[in-house]
Formats: sequence, structure tokens, C-alpha cells
Amino acid sequence: MDTENEYIELRDADRRYVWHPFTQMREWAAEEPIIVSEARDCFLKDMRGRWYLDGVSSLWVNILGHRNPALNTAIKEQLGRAAHTTILGLSNPPAIRLAERLVGLIQKRLGPGPTPSRVFYSDNGSTSVEVAIKMAYQYWQHRGEPGRSKFVRLSNAYHGDTLGAVSVGGVDIFHEAFRPLLFETFKAPSPYCYRCQLGHTGPEDCGMACLDALEDILKGHAHECAALVIEPHVQAAGGMIVFPKGYVRGVRELCTRYGVLMIADEVATGFGRTGSTFASEHEHAVPDILCLSKGITGGYMPLAVTVATDEVFEAFLGEFGEMKTFFHGHSYTGNPLACACALAVMDELERLDIPGSLKEKTAMLRGWLKQVSALPQVGEARGLGLMAGVELVARKESREPYAWQQKMGWEVCYEARRQGVIIRPLGNVVVIMPPLVISAENLGRMLEVIGEGIVRATAA
Ligand code: PMP
Repeated sequence: MDTENEYIELRDADRRYVWHPFTQMREWAAEEPIIVSEARDCFLKDMRGRWYLDGVSSLWVNILGHRNPALNTAIKEQLGRAAHTTILGLSNPPAIRLAERLVGLIQKRLGPGPTPSRVFYSDNGSTSVEVAIKMAYQYWQHRGEPGRSKFVRLSNAYHGDTLGAVSVGGVDIFHEAFRPLLFETFKAPSPYCYRCQLGHTGPEDCGMACLDALEDILKGHAHECAALVIEPHVQAAGGMIVFPKGYVRGVRELCTRYGVLMIADEVATGFGRTGSTFASEHEHAVPDILCLSKGITGGYMPLAVTVATDEVFEAFLGEFGEMKTFFHGHSYTGNPLACACALAVMDELERLDIPGSLKEKTAMLRGWLKQVSALPQVGEARGLGLMAGVELVARKESREPYAWQQKMGWEVCYEARRQGVIIRPLGNVVVIMPPLVISAENLGRMLEVIGEGIVRATAA
């Protein structure tokens, strides 16, 4: 069968049998889909032989490039031993070694103090948050405060699509449809200074009023709350919202003062993405529970960890009959193939000096963000490390957004796609999330294409 015929056959089978996530399937059925049949380094090849730059890191997971020889080898070697064995009632070498390695890395980066140091495995970002929520809730049961069953969340937060993770999220288009199914939370304002919910014009003039609003919630309700959940420094899926300096530190201090656990969701920001290994390092705001996924396997295998401090862990210790066991676990928890792959990722991060070696590229991205922010249809261009967003606006002076039906973010992405760069928007925000190992030359090309795409799409 020639390639074109095979493409058509697969396209038709996809239309007939596959239900794509976050996709209006009626629109999908009318499109000519890109079917990726091969990938190498930072590039994807479609079935028709065209190569594209993977500007979305295959949904923010691929930090070390496709077909990375070290990761390929690690998986092949582990395949020669065992693909999957459970860690419910058993253990396996890669899961043990990875836990030790991760704790070493976290302690090196966040200090030896009361740092997260017990690794609980799951399979994806949402489950890592789900685990953190249940862990925090059960912790307070064991501490003799069963009334602490609520959580504090931020508006514009995104923590995944399972119902617990949705409950602590705050992006209306993802969450409103399911509101009746969700548990009760307290919503604090997001420090989204470009569109401050409290009506201020920037962190300079408000003295961080959103922290005061959070403190008001905690003052009144800390005794009912198990934990606060936050994406440190960048609310990613909420629109690449970069927090003002001092906010995360302030949240940590408030959680400590009011005795509420702090859960840091570093699913998107972890493993070098923000220019430090963990975003929690930037202001040395050490969480009580840390969630990691995505980059942990370099985008190869589904794996996540929820890492708790000794204090949280020790609350679960007791006699069998005391029912203090943490009641959670999945079929693939601690999967040896995924853990072996993640161990190779840890080696690669060291060998390639990530995040140290990213400086030139992050400076380049910063410079480009400054440049595009002058465009008439760009309201704000913001980023940290190698994650950034360009917020498009219909009117710059009034900050009026494009009507969502205009799909302006998508229009820019379609323009970029025509020039060989795959990116995905978040509403009116064009997202820049290349693999961390992208060359400066390819990053430059990607930014040039996106800049042109913004100009063309917004002019139409
Ligand atoms: N937390 C954050 C901060 C995320 O960005 C995401 C996914 N984009 C998730 C959780 C959910 O991860 P997953 O899609 O692997 O369930």
C-alpha cells in the first residue's frame, strides 16, 4: 500500500473509531488530520512525509527530544527483565532506585529541611494531584481533626481532569460543566496581574492584595481546610500566567501561619521547565506535598509521583487495626519500565546540565517576548524559563479579549502549522513550550514562525 492510501485508510479509521480529547469531533471529522508516524529529536513526521517542529513538546512532556538514545536504551534494558510487576505488596528495583534518586534531587534543590521525601507513585498529572488531595485529607483524619475536609484553590488554576483535580481547578471552560459533581472549596483570586480580579493595575500599586484576600479565607476557614493547592510561579493551562515576585513565598508563609498543608503541583513546571529544576526553588517555598509528572519520563511513559514530607508520611504509621493505611493505588503504580526510563531522565538532566544550560535559550525567548509585546494585537507576552504565552487582544488599550468564537489562538496555530511548527493555544493565549533540548537555531526559527503567524492571523 502506498503512503497516501495508508494515510487515507488510517484517517478514515480514526474518524470512525477514535474519540479525541478536548476536541469537537464534528469539526475534527471535517479536517485533514496530521497523523504522526515518526519522531526524532524535536521534530515530528506525518504520514505524508512532512516534518514539523514539536513546539508543544507533545503536550509539555517531551523535554529531552524524541528517540533519545539514553531513554531508548534504558527501556530496552528493562524490557529484558520485566515490563510490569506491581508494587502493591511487592517492590521492584527501578521504583526503589527512582524514589531514592528523586528524594536526593528534591533535597539538593529545596534544602534538607522539612522537604518532601516520601514518594508515592501514580500514572499521570491528574492522579498525582488526586493522590495529594486524598493524602492531605486523610492526614488530618489521623491528626484528630476530621473537620478539615475542604481545600483552597486559585482561580485560573488547572490541576487535571479527574474529579478531585477538577474540584481544585479554576478554569471555567474546563470545570463549569462538572460543577455539580465537585466537592466544596474556597477560591482565592489568581495573581493574574494583567487582568487583576481585584481591579488593581499591577503588583507595584496593590501591595499584593491577592495575598490579603487569601489570608481572609484562611483566617475564617483554615480550621475546615486540609490544604491549599497551587501551581508554583506559573499557572500553565490557565493561560501561562506568571506570578509576581513574592507571591509564592507569601502563600507558603500563610499556609504555615494558618496551619494548612501546601500542595505544589509542579506537573508542568518541574524538571527544568522554568529555568530551575523545580519552580518551588525560585522563592524557596518548600511545599508539604509535591506533585510531579510530564517531564519525569522525558515524555516517554505515563508516570507521576506525589512526594510527601516525613511529617505527612508519619501520620499514616500505626497498627494494622488503626486503619491509618493510605487507601490508594493503581494497577500500574510503580511501573518498572516507566521508572527505568525516569532514572535515565535523571542521568540526562545531569549530563546535559539542565537547567543550567538553558540560559541562552531562555534569554532569547525573553527577548522575543519583549519584541512581540509591542505588536498591536498582543496584550501581554509573558514567560518563565522555557514556558511562555502570548495573550492576544482585540483592543490593546482596553485589553478587550477576542471573542472565544473567533478562535484567534487557533488561527495563529494554523498559520504556524503551515510553516512547519506545531503549537496549541489556550484560548487567546499562544503557548510556547518547546522541548528543553531544542537548539538555539530551531528555537529562533520557531519564534520567527510564531511571530509571523500572530501578525498574519490578527491582520486577517
Ligand atoms: N497539573 C498541571 C499543572 C498540568 O499542567 C496538568 C496537565 N497539563 C495536569 C496537572 C494534569 O496532568 P495529566 O494531563 O497528565 O493528567
